[in-house]
Amino acid sequence: MKPATALACLMVLAGCHSRSDPGPFRLGAATIEPVQSNPWRALLYRKPVLLTFDDGPQDLVADRRILAALSRHHARALWLVTCKRLDPAMDPQASEHRVALEEIVARGHLIGNHGYSHLDLRRLEPGAMAHEIVGCSDLIAQLTGRRPRYFRPPFGAHSPAVDRMVEADGMQLLLWSGNSYDSLLADFKRHPRAYVDYVRLHPGMDAALTATPGDVLLFHDYPNTALAIDGFMTRLERRDFQFVLPDHGDAAGNQAR
Ligand SMILES: [Zn+2]
Repeated sequence: MKPATALACLMVLAGCHSRSDPGPFRLGAATIEPVQSNPWRALLYRKPVLLTFDDGPQDLVADRRILAALSRHHARALWLVTCKRLDPAMDPQASEHRVALEEIVARGHLIGNHGYSHLDLRRLEPGAMAHEIVGCSDLIAQLTGRRPRYFRPPFGAHSPAVDRMVEADGMQLLLWSGNSYDSLLADFKRHPRAYVDYVRLHPGMDAALTATPGDVLLFHDYPNTALAIDGFMTRLERRDFQFVLPDHGDAAGNQAR
């Protein structure tokens, strides 16, 4: 992500923890509410954080491990899907990935749009850009019954033309302010334990230790992430963070506009 973009993202989030009352905080245009229903938790927790998982569904085993960890911590997350994974014409394992999508939705997580084919959208003609942005929303709506409210451009790369199309499709651009570095080395996927060791040996790269209230944390649905996510969440909880979703009035947070 460009420094200017990161700064803009952080500036949007900066107001999240400056309030003195325990009310909801703001994430861009969205109001954030605590996930858990007990209203007293809002008084106890002042450090909300949004977990996001990009690029999937791409690994049913990893997805189920992540879902199990999220359930153990009573947390919900935003899954920004790459639609080609769900398209039988583009991915021979699309039917398996659709099962993962169903399970993610069934557990109350929020689905966002991460583009159809994971391309740098800035280079595309309007027709191809529409396929990547609107076409992916169409497929998500077809499979889940709801159009997504959040769009994360692949690589965080966007332009005024991308921004206009995302807004016209009723979505909010959502980047990230904290990085798990789970995609830093390709070897992490093949040797998931190496990623866990890397994070332990580099506390400055540990998203759980560097997180600040209101952060949007970037993860992927990789095997190494699936191995590490429980530890991340435990460390965040030790620091009194609470896992939240953007709230639009319904349990899944993605009520039709
Ligand atoms: Zn991505």
